[in-house]
Amino acid sequence: MLSTMQDVPLTVTRILEHGALVHGESQITTWTGEGEPHRRSFREAGERAHQLAHALRDDLGVSGDERVATLMWNNAEHVEAYYAIPSMGAVLHTLNLRLPAEQLVFIVNHAADRVVIANGSLLPLLAPLLPQLPTLEHVVVSGPGDRSLLDGAGVSVHDYEELLAGKPTVFDWPEIDERQAAAMCYTSGTTGDPKGVVYSHRSIYLHSMQVNMAQSMGLTDLDTTLVVVPQFHVNAWGLPHATFMSGINMLMPDRFLQPAPLAEMIESERPTHAAAVPTIWQGLLAELTAKPRDVSSLTQVTIGGSACPPSLMAAFDDLGMRVCHAWGMTETSPLGTIARPPAHVVGTEEEFAYRLTQGRFPAGVEARLTGPGGERLPWDGESAGELEVRGPWIAGAYYGGSDGEPLRPADKFSEDGWLKTGDVGTISADGFLTLTDRAKDVIKSGGEWISSVDLENALMSHPDVTEAAVVAVPDERWGERPLATVVLREGSTADFASLRAFLADEGKIAKWQLPERWSIVEAVPKTSVGKFDKKVIRKRYAEGDLDVTKL
Ligand code: ADP
Repeated sequence: MLSTMQDVPLTVTRILEHGALVHGESQITTWTGEGEPHRRSFREAGERAHQLAHALRDDLGVSGDERVATLMWNNAEHVEAYYAIPSMGAVLHTLNLRLPAEQLVFIVNHAADRVVIANGSLLPLLAPLLPQLPTLEHVVVSGPGDRSLLDGAGVSVHDYEELLAGKPTVFDWPEIDERQAAAMCYTSGTTGDPKGVVYSHRSIYLHSMQVNMAQSMGLTDLDTTLVVVPQFHVNAWGLPHATFMSGINMLMPDRFLQPAPLAEMIESERPTHAAAVPTIWQGLLAELTAKPRDVSSLTQVTIGGSACPPSLMAAFDDLGMRVCHAWGMTETSPLGTIARPPAHVVGTEEEFAYRLTQGRFPAGVEARLTGPGGERLPWDGESAGELEVRGPWIAGAYYGGSDGEPLRPADKFSEDGWLKTGDVGTISADGFLTLTDRAKDVIKSGGEWISSVDLENALMSHPDVTEAAVVAVPDERWGERPLATVVLREGSTADFASLRAFLADEGKIAKWQLPERWSIVEAVPKTSVGKFDKKVIRKRYAEGDLDVTKL
């Protein structure tokens, strides 16, 4: 028997129209670095999204499901693009401006982008790539920048504001099938070529509802969220959509992502929530320690993208900022789990341990663990295996190019269609995920696994260690052993033996897991999205570029 309910498509257009109308007074504030920040209401941004759609259609001829790329920071114009492009039926393709040039070239060509909207400050990055981007015909420039860099590059150059000026503020949005592509984002390609994840209108809609649930970020129009996580990285964790659904104000840092301006914008704009990867928060913490500021408005912080070190969570607790840890990937939209402790531990000693897990699965994400031999493992909090997930906002394939079939590589998708995350961990009986490693980072020593993450967290809880990354290196006797690379606080006199003793102290780390190879580094290399880049460390070690001491 069929239901008697209306079959109304879940679309990005609907989120836009709702936000612009019902939450028209909510604000997008964009930091400008000097003087007053720039303020725009949801109503104005909504009107401008209609105007942008007119400009793209009438002036640049964007039609059908063409991809329109953005090369932009987090700002109000980027939010407008987020809504105009999918609502007109085209596909928003956010370009990760931190990717190496050859990967950017690869993804623009793979997606066959014909139009790119770029912030003027990013033209020095874009201009040299243009000769290698044959499909690109139009560059729309937003904000200040040296436009002469594009002279003679064989593309039409437009000014964003001039394109919008005088355009009608009503665009007749098409009816869209909710399963159609709305946006795409390529994985950062830590292994092989970047792969394109294509989000549907439906997946974005459902994911935004999940982000807004009380058990997830749970924000309302009383809140202002500081969106540090870039809009070019997994849709800024869904915040530009979730905000329009619930009227949550947005504070956008634009290109001012260094600790000092972040601290300044928190003090003056008083956001209540912020979202970013741990490295950003480590930087902010050091800044606030060196130069205290009034950050009392900021009471909730969502941290994800890589594991939140316990020391960081504790330090933020002391500052009155409650960290909520979350896990996800480009392929999962990204919200996969979020660590809101269960009612029965709130206020008890157990609570902190729950908060340190990657978090609990929401109803929309089904999970299972697969052991090394392909066997299903129980949710007992102890059996560690590769995490596989499925759900309405989880990728089931990668983009195969305009003529190609979707790609389902066997190492990424199971035969029955689940996403293989490449993350290794345990799940407790009440659905909390604890990641112990990435499948490719786990250290396989004499038939046993050593978690590089456990070693890193233990090292980073040492008062003299600012950063630590541990990788597996080949070992004749054991197959693999851990190599610890550490960044020491300025003026520290800690030596390797004392760090090793610190790890062994109080049974923090089992004796057989203690690293014997150590190296001091100036900084841990980071990927384009600010995660520890262990591939680079392994390479440096293999090429003899690291000064390693063996204890
Ligand atoms: P990439 O795979 O290129 O790094 P993603 O940004 O999609 O791109 O990264 C997803 C991965 O980041 C996850 O598979 C996981 O390994 C890691 N990750 C994300 N959140 C967390 C977290 N809270 N704790 C530990 N690892 C995390």
